[in-house]
Amino acid sequence: MNQQGTVPVLIVGAGPTGLTLACDLLRRGVACRVIDKVATPFAGSRGKGVQPRSLEVLDDLGVLDAARAAGAAPYPPLRAYAGSQVVWEGVMHERREPSPDVPHPLPLMLPQGLTEEVLRTRLAGLGGRVEFATELTGFEQDGDGVSATLVTAGGAPERLRALYLVGADGGHSSVRKRLGISFEGETHEEDRMLIADLHVDGLEREFWHTWPERETRALKVGLCPLAGTNTFQLMAPLAPDEAPELSLDALQTLFNARSGRTDLRLHGLGWASVFRTNIRLAERYRVGRVFLAGDAAHVHPPDGGQGLNTGVQDAYNLGWKLGEVLAGAPAALLDSYEQERLPIAAEVLGLSTRLHQRGVRSDSNAPQRGAETQQLGLHYREGPLARDERDVKGRVEAGDRAPDAPCHDAAGNAIRLFDVFRGPHFTLLAFGALPADTVAGLAARYGAKVRVRTVVSPGGGSGGHVLVDTHGHARRGYDLEGPALVLVRPDGYIGLITPHLVTEPVERYLARVLAP
Ligand SMILES: Cc1cc2nc3c(=O)[nH]c(=O)nc-3n(C[C@H](O)[C@H](O)[C@H](O)COP(=O)(O)OP(=O)(O)OC[C@H]3O[C@@H](n4cnc5c(N)ncnc54)[C@H](O)[C@@H]3O)c2cc1C
Repeated sequence: MNQQGTVPVLIVGAGPTGLTLACDLLRRGVACRVIDKVATPFAGSRGKGVQPRSLEVLDDLGVLDAARAAGAAPYPPLRAYAGSQVVWEGVMHERREPSPDVPHPLPLMLPQGLTEEVLRTRLAGLGGRVEFATELTGFEQDGDGVSATLVTAGGAPERLRALYLVGADGGHSSVRKRLGISFEGETHEEDRMLIADLHVDGLEREFWHTWPERETRALKVGLCPLAGTNTFQLMAPLAPDEAPELSLDALQTLFNARSGRTDLRLHGLGWASVFRTNIRLAERYRVGRVFLAGDAAHVHPPDGGQGLNTGVQDAYNLGWKLGEVLAGAPAALLDSYEQERLPIAAEVLGLSTRLHQRGVRSDSNAPQRGAETQQLGLHYREGPLARDERDVKGRVEAGDRAPDAPCHDAAGNAIRLFDVFRGPHFTLLAFGALPADTVAGLAARYGAKVRVRTVVSPGGGSGGHVLVDTHGHARRGYDLEGPALVLVRPDGYIGLITPHLVTEPVERYLARVLAP
């Protein structure tokens, strides 16, 4: 058996969750190994909805442009037919324009396989790679680390020592099972959907085409043009006793029978699957040095496109905490991962379940998706890392997502708050005059770990640390009138708001979350 040295983090599973975590760790200089038991990357559509909050994460990781270049695009309008006749047309998401605080107000569609490819390319740019055909077959942990056994196709088993292990190994997570963590919830055996990626001749790509039951409006079959490809995703709910065949001939027969059309030729079948509705949440997200993230910790009905997005946010929450604790921050910081993320998953599961029930009941608003699916309003206000020292809080509190705002630097160049946040550091925004020597003192003490910016009105200051709030968007976005210090975490959430322009509260806060 091969025995390698100790790696800081072993990530099991190279889906969207594992890849996001790997990118976040590597960009902060934390080495990790990412393994996946499959021999080749997933190439299907599956989780195709990337929510606005995840777009912000992709932006922070430096891959939003690459996702767009890969074809990420707004959802097309929906069309319902009776045979060839259009009987209804509508949109899934209400049209919303970018605003100063929300630059990406609408979800984009990108098939999961392409999202993963974009993340893998970023990982390679950071010097990492996925080790495919490498399966975790066992592990034990002690106070200092985790000993894992990896089996590679055709190779000798490898014994690996890691300081932390993250199970991003999907809904059937063997990491979760080995930890003995229960996965409470429901599986609806009778509630199944057939999904297949394929080509369709003779159908416009400008619409998501659906064929509902005339009376109940329940979906019989649908074809969604997949952004970034020239394929469609076919979706067809299955009756409890239906045993579908996933061959092209069988899918063509099913499609013709359900749509009443014989003029559309299906071909080029790619990924195809039948999934049952699963609603489950892990009882814990962590045992000692082993963590769960993504589908390993929570599985959702696909309605509302929450699963992939919640996994990406898990990884984004965990990455900086692992990085800081590995650098010497108090180990208690890692407790906040479960404390912050488990309640969020419970909330999101409730939402996707409600949306699913709307679909099962064929409610008239079943296809529509509102702001609640965008994950911008999810917050950690009640979590252990939110500290708001104001007597009277505003609309935006510690624990909330830190809003964006267009500003200018002292030289007059346009710059957004998100440009300042982008990267693995904390950002301290000083609304009000922070003396230059205080700024210099913070820079000397924290270096690249904390970026300090003084937010001033036009004409209110100069220097590299100044952000000119030219149109007042920053103050409005943070709902601040008087002076305040706002500390923004590396994952874009507000950690601390204090009305005092003194650095002690900031230093006290940072002592809990940063290596000395
Ligand atoms: C039909 C369908 C539609 C969906 N639509 C959406 C949507 O629109 N939006 C959305 O947000 N979500 C959607 N989802 C959910 C989304 O696909 C999942 O939430 C997402 O894939 C979870 O990502 P993950 O990285 O946590 O896990 P996965 O993508 O499942 O990745 C886990 C990886 O771990 C690997 N692995 C497992 N065990 C081991 C082991 N022992 N050793 C090594 N590797 C291992 C697996 O091979 C796999 O590659 C949908 C899901 C389905 C089925």
